[in-house]
Amino acid sequence: MNKLLLGGIELVKYLIGRAKDLVMLKMLKSKEIRKLDRKFLFYLRESSKYEKFVEIDGKVVMNSQMPPYGTEAFNQFIKTIPQIKEGKKFPLSCNIAITNRCNFSCWHCSNWGRETPEDFPLELLKETIWKLQEMGNSFIGLTGGEPTLRDDLEEIVEAIGTRSHTILFTNGEKLTYERAKELKRRGLFSASVSLDHFKPEIHDKQRGYDGAFDIAVAAIKASNKAGLYTIAGVVPTRGMINNGEIPTFYKFLKEIGAHEVRVLAPIPTGRLVGNNDARWCGKDEEKQMWEYHMKLNKDKDFPKISEFSYLESEGLLGCMAGTYHMFIENDGTVTPCDMIPLSFGNVKKEGLEAAFNAMTERFQSPRHECYVRAAHALFKKGFDKEGKFPLSKETAMEITGKVRNKKMPKFFQVLGMPPPVFEKEKGKEKEKLDLRNLECPEPVWRTQEKMWDMKGGVLEVLVNEEEAKNNVEDTAKSEGWSAKVESEDNGEYLLILSS
Ligand code: SF4
Repeated sequence: MNKLLLGGIELVKYLIGRAKDLVMLKMLKSKEIRKLDRKFLFYLRESSKYEKFVEIDGKVVMNSQMPPYGTEAFNQFIKTIPQIKEGKKFPLSCNIAITNRCNFSCWHCSNWGRETPEDFPLELLKETIWKLQEMGNSFIGLTGGEPTLRDDLEEIVEAIGTRSHTILFTNGEKLTYERAKELKRRGLFSASVSLDHFKPEIHDKQRGYDGAFDIAVAAIKASNKAGLYTIAGVVPTRGMINNGEIPTFYKFLKEIGAHEVRVLAPIPTGRLVGNNDARWCGKDEEKQMWEYHMKLNKDKDFPKISEFSYLESEGLLGCMAGTYHMFIENDGTVTPCDMIPLSFGNVKKEGLEAAFNAMTERFQSPRHECYVRAAHALFKKGFDKEGKFPLSKETAMEITGKVRNKKMPKFFQVLGMPPPVFEKEKGKEKEKLDLRNLECPEPVWRTQEKMWDMKGGVLEVLVNEEEAKNNVEDTAKSEGWSAKVESEDNGEYLLILSS
């Protein structure tokens, strides 16, 4: 157990090993928790194996996707688990872009392509927050644009209160110590400040703003000093991972006051849509990042690590976009996630519930991996056609008709949630694709689209790059098809995919 003493007062404890078990045992005192299935409780304990718990002000952050234990929001979350088990969908977690204004120009901005300049009107925002909570919400992320540019941020935080756990996602621009303290007084639990590198010139360049590094470091220090649970939100590049800079970076973040590092891979959406170079961490990089999550969460010299490609993987919570997670844009448009630019309605027109229901009908169940992984090529096509994000409801219906959630992540399987009902499959077909003239990742996208169109049968794929062969094989498997290399000749590979 590592204790951090600030001004002589014990504020933060990092819990590993037996100290975590003691927290879980304490949790069992709750009647609501004891009502949960034993198998599910064992699974929760098992899936916490690679988590570092952080105790702050007597509340314990166990997992970055859940409200902290000891809060009203946590109790609310536990109460809604039986509804999840029954398969009832509700916005358990919701990120809201309270403004579209931003002073930075980040290379990977997921909000890029929006043409609506107005802020989310305060009264409508309060009403929407109340409705979300009535529907079962226990987790709200305030984002943008840059949310600290709003002068009424304190009032928004106060309107959320303690029914939902709140995280403020910020570049740090206007998060001074005084403001952080006031936000905490109004009920904010956590601030997540974006910082991509320990070298100022690299962070400034990636964020398109001179001085961005100093701003972020100052905000992390201010947030910590004000007693907020402080997160550093990072998007590491392939270069940074392969240069072995990750442990140095994480250590640096702890030194400047981050309790947790929230790690997101560059996602091919927003400004990165169609960008094949930055499109994703490759398999090797992802493996390294998972290892850091597992290893460093057992080491008290590092902050809590939350590697999202791991947390949102098949063995854990997977992707809840469109079912238990949603996003509301600054103009009220409802989409499944900040990273999924598909609109299903607007809180100002159809209303929150109608837009949410239209969306869940298309998503049906949580997915075994990030939805963007499967659909990003279709986002690009949609953007080329419509010229802006989010894409229209018509395009959203078209894309969600092709990319359905077929495999549920383990959390929901163990809980006993009923599997999604799918449309009747087409008759078995046999098709062939010759993709030898295409460079990776194009063969993967073409194969994936063909599999969605066929919905079943046998697909022969011919490629002439080893990388393409490996990626097509992996993609087919993640879509639930079997894949084998039928022949290999002079650098050409014939793959047989079947479902
Ligand atoms: S779409 Fe990707 S980023 Fe969004 S909730 Fe799903 S896994 Fe997370």
